[in-house]
Amino acid sequence: MESYVNEIKRMLQLPKIEDCDNILCVQPHPDDGDISSGATVAKLTSLGKKVTYLFVTDGDAGINGKSRSETAKIRKEEEVRAAKILGVKDLIWLDHPDAGEYSVSDLRNEIIDVIRRIKPDLIMTVDPFLPYEFHPDHIATGTATAQAALFYNNPTVKEIGKNYVPHALKAMAFFFTASPNQFVCVDDQWEIKFQAIFEHKSQINPETFKLYRKYFDIKGKFYGEKIGCKYAEGFKVLIPEMFHAFAENLWI
Ligand SMILES: [Zn+2]
Repeated sequence: MESYVNEIKRMLQLPKIEDCDNILCVQPHPDDGDISSGATVAKLTSLGKKVTYLFVTDGDAGINGKSRSETAKIRKEEEVRAAKILGVKDLIWLDHPDAGEYSVSDLRNEIIDVIRRIKPDLIMTVDPFLPYEFHPDHIATGTATAQAALFYNNPTVKEIGKNYVPHALKAMAFFFTASPNQFVCVDDQWEIKFQAIFEHKSQINPETFKLYRKYFDIKGKFYGEKIGCKYAEGFKVLIPEMFHAFAENLWI
């Protein structure tokens, strides 16, 4: 890490995820938020925070041997059950084709519309800069969401209606990240996360579930130790000043 970065980090004062009140969680597929951040989401809803799930695709390429429409129906039902376990009541579906063709700039504008309507103070999404990430929906979702966070108050990029009242976004928190800079203590929510993941039966067979459990237990304990907890989930948090041309993001 560059020698001056800690000083910059102290100056920026990144908000704590638990201190945010209205959270929009943008996900490529049904299950991504639950798997990456389910315990944090359960903690936020238990604290009375509002969490909205926004899905870019309905995961309709996710079951071999079933049609896209059958798959989408099953995966949406699984997600509704998982979200209920985590205390999430509001689910929005954009229904783009899973692993299909769609435009990132059109997606960005759709997400801008949701941001203007929901007015979140925190946006969670996948880290589009995860090294070796292959899935186009993850790269597209993270990129379009980050661009939407940059431009949601810009009437030139996307026309704004007359009655729009601007609001201030506090931060973005990227999950599935290789560079976490904030850890959320989730000792009381650790089991709930796996109850939610268990609902995605079309994606995770019992063998895979066992493997997931081990993987997340190892990682959750490692992250937990950093903040004096048994388990934690990790996020890369950025504030709006860091969304563009900010060289220290890699180290902060
Ligand atoms: Zn996914």
